[in-house]
Amino acid sequence: MFTARSRKAPSDVPIGIDSARDAVRLTQVTKSYGRGASAVVALDQVGIGIAAGGFTAVMGPSGSGKSTFLHCAAGLDRPTSGSVRLGAQDLGELGERQLTEFRRTRVGFVFQAFNLLPSLTVEQNITLPLRLAAKSADHDSVRGVTSAVGLTGLLGRRPTELSGGQQQRVAIARALVTRPEVIFADEPTGALDPDTAEDILALLRHAVDDLHQTVVMVTHDPAAAQHTDRVLFLAGGRVTHRMDAPTADRVKSVMTELRGTR
Ligand code: ADP
Repeated sequence: MFTARSRKAPSDVPIGIDSARDAVRLTQVTKSYGRGASAVVALDQVGIGIAAGGFTAVMGPSGSGKSTFLHCAAGLDRPTSGSVRLGAQDLGELGERQLTEFRRTRVGFVFQAFNLLPSLTVEQNITLPLRLAAKSADHDSVRGVTSAVGLTGLLGRRPTELSGGQQQRVAIARALVTRPEVIFADEPTGALDPDTAEDILALLRHAVDDLHQTVVMVTHDPAAAQHTDRVLFLAGGRVTHRMDAPTADRVKSVMTELRGTR
């Protein structure tokens, strides 16, 4: 179990500056729903890079395009136009089966509702991505991941026998086990009390600082955003602001400004 909470200097996380180190790059990404007069443009010509090895928050008012951004960036949905590159892979070049395989092996997901399988033990939930990819679970690396997230001793339990915070730790371990290029987290602390939320954010911070993962997190919570290296703010389907080394107060004031301009 880790204790330290270190932060990188903002200069160590040149998101969007050095494209060679981008974990994710969206180029001219537009996503529209529906057609004709009733069409909704959820993402409007978004061009942004997210540096490898950083912790990035995506924020914005309701309806600003956060979920659509996450879904397009993670290969869960395809843009209407433009391209998404994850690591060296242009996702538009992949057919449906290849894209599913890519997500399974190269992308990690953490959701607000944990999304664990209730009939499986903690250990079976964590190793599920390896089994789905027909890879055998290397016991040392599984043990390394479970101890990093503080679950040693709970491997035989079922999700219903765990607290919400412990269940989210299992979900994070499951995301870490394949050592993905990027972990996408969608409101990962939305169902947790504030103290447990802090523990989960510290764990995601640990995944970035010590396990060298890249984490992209959608959140509406300024307190959560201040654990990250940089915040991207969306409004009306565009990235309108970027903030390095965010504090909750500065994040709140941008959010107030964006809500006011809707
Ligand atoms: P956020 O996550 O910031 O609340 P979304 O990405 O969910 O925003 O939505 C952005 C815009 O796209 C909103 O206007 C929303 O109503 C619209 N939208 C999202 N998904 C769909 C869909 N499946 N069909 C039609 N419109 C959608």
